[in-house]
Amino acid sequence: MKFKLHIPERSLKGMLLILPIFSIAIPTLAQGPAGYVECKAEHSFEEPTNVAFGSDGNYKYLFNQVGPIVFSRGQFFGGPSSAKVEKAWYQTISEMDVETPSAKLAEAFAKLKKHLVGEALLSASQIMQQDSIIQANISAIGIKKEIIEQAFDLVSTYEETAGPLFDIQGEKIMLPREVQPGMEIHYALFYIMDAITRSYSASKLEEFPQVYHGAMFKTAAYFPGKVDPPKDADNVYRVKVKASQAPNWGTPIYFHQDAYSRRPTGAYVAPGTIVKIKVPPAVVNKGYTIRVGTHFWDLKYRNRIARLDRATIIYPVVNETTTVGSPLGGNIYFEVPEGKEDGIIDLEITGAVRSPYFSTRDYNKTSLKEWKETERHYTGAWADFETDKFLMQVPTSWIDDFDDPETMLKRYDTAMDAVADLLGKPLPQGTHFMFRQVDAIMRAGVHAPGYPEINVRYDPTEESDGKGNHIMLQSPVKQPWVIFHEMGHSHVPSFFVDETESIVNLLHVAVANDGFGMELDSAFGSSISNRLDVDLDMAAINLMVTEPFRNNQPLNRNRMSYQHRGHAKYVDVVRLFGWDALREMFKKVNEDYNRGIVITKTHHPTDDRILRMSVAANADLRPLLHFWGRPPENNKALADSLDVAGLSPSREIFETLEHYKSILPKTLTEARAHAKLMFPKDGHPSSDGHDLERDMAFIYTSWNEEFATQSIQQIELIQTLYFPEDWLDGE
Ligand SMILES: [Zn+2]
Repeated sequence: MKFKLHIPERSLKGMLLILPIFSIAIPTLAQGPAGYVECKAEHSFEEPTNVAFGSDGNYKYLFNQVGPIVFSRGQFFGGPSSAKVEKAWYQTISEMDVETPSAKLAEAFAKLKKHLVGEALLSASQIMQQDSIIQANISAIGIKKEIIEQAFDLVSTYEETAGPLFDIQGEKIMLPREVQPGMEIHYALFYIMDAITRSYSASKLEEFPQVYHGAMFKTAAYFPGKVDPPKDADNVYRVKVKASQAPNWGTPIYFHQDAYSRRPTGAYVAPGTIVKIKVPPAVVNKGYTIRVGTHFWDLKYRNRIARLDRATIIYPVVNETTTVGSPLGGNIYFEVPEGKEDGIIDLEITGAVRSPYFSTRDYNKTSLKEWKETERHYTGAWADFETDKFLMQVPTSWIDDFDDPETMLKRYDTAMDAVADLLGKPLPQGTHFMFRQVDAIMRAGVHAPGYPEINVRYDPTEESDGKGNHIMLQSPVKQPWVIFHEMGHSHVPSFFVDETESIVNLLHVAVANDGFGMELDSAFGSSISNRLDVDLDMAAINLMVTEPFRNNQPLNRNRMSYQHRGHAKYVDVVRLFGWDALREMFKKVNEDYNRGIVITKTHHPTDDRILRMSVAANADLRPLLHFWGRPPENNKALADSLDVAGLSPSREIFETLEHYKSILPKTLTEARAHAKLMFPKDGHPSSDGHDLERDMAFIYTSWNEEFATQSIQQIELIQTLYFPEDWLDGE
């Protein structure tokens, strides 16, 4: 059997994601899994309980849970769901029938094992039948000692005969979610291993240490990485973590409440080892959790499988000592819910191995000397890089010969400061302002924001020289434009209607220009598709030649999304009035939010926003924003407000409009030259392209003097509307 399924990531174009800003729970008669009852979204379980999150056949499970569970996408069940309504369900193990499902699991496991060792071969449909039986009884997988043992035994048999997963008989594979003919046994084992990871709990590790000791998945060598157990299983490592997370300041950042702030420890649980973590009594039973494993997102609803769906295990801190383990292994993190204030605490970790950890935080500073001599050589498979503002993990194999994380982190801090300044937010926040991570697959089918955000994926088998050459470890300015685009989705306080996929591109401009001194035009150009060659003038031409522009219509969403002409309005404001004009506006939006004045983020009322921005710029911005496709809704009322604010027409804006008149293509030849600059490749611009390309295809074939006259007239209309004749004369 040889399989090679290589499915490339789809191209980026048109697949950037904005998460629904507000998930609205629509009441329906959602059904829970058989034998489960509904509970509240936050619930503390005194005795071992199986829990599920979702509805109508779409669930993410965790088994054997004790302690507080937050049923949210953020903390326990991370990642998109196909469930229409996500509800919380539980099943108390002491009240369930354990014997019947256990017996069914035992029988099905035995049949699969006989198939694997060649004793009694099953057909594809017979394998799938066993898979269905197992999944129908999966809630019992982690309860009885003999079933846990049998499950691990089946996994090792599979790994010796057909597996290990993702490295099947020497072939590295990525599985489509839909079961592929001939691959049934791999899928059946995938879901068994997935269920095993969901059944880990401190109490089970303590109840059956002899079962869990040495119980591991060989696929761990592929992902998250091969890590040997510590030479001394009784080794003790002490590390400080911050058990405080100040509440978010200003408008909400996605995940601030939902995902606990993550504190790296530099400790790693080797697969199949049992580790003890001791905390001060003051933090017991207060909602803190310990996470084993770097990779947060539960990928059950991805359409492709690149690793086990669940690569982390969460242990609520309900005792002074928590016993943890994982069949995959992983870094140890202490997790802090928003609003906690227990300060810096000591963790005492017994039986772990070390992983590289470079921190610039006061309580945990790493020197470059320590980094070079010891830290980077630790064997844990993932390295943590942390400042007060920024957190990132990459494979240790990328950095074990990397010399200077200090400079890298300083640059990221500079980028964080540029974004925070732009958005009117103070730093540091209670949690990291940005948290990046690389994973074997993106968490959604598209790029997406998140804590952590996963917008770079890697091939776990790819060799690295360890020198830190990967783009993630380079200067923020060099990052693909989508990185700050996605950060924009989670952080921007408010925007004009239809700007969801355009204003978010402003962050890259701020990072490059304000943070790193790149000239504004280049910073602006690089903010879409990293096109350094596109400047404000080109964006203005892209705008002025459109049909809505010529007809005095606002620019719609399709003509702004992922395009320079969408966020150019803001960059033009910055060019004329400086970054403060935007910063002050955003800062006021944040301050208002703190006072209870909430603006709907996606629909900041047009006139209110023009007024706020004008006040911040100390100039009447109406003509400039009207030019860029955002005219006032009630110009008379807005004019009165601007008057009250003492704002008058701006000479710079008038001159800017004059300038745009001068660069507008007047002839077909000029239009063609511009269209070709935007789409230089052979056969482009094409009328089959996206909105911008279609506009360019239009001017490439059809631009003429009459259209040019209409565009000029539109600019004159704007000038007449906002610049009174006596003002023009007076100037
Ligand atoms: Zn987007």
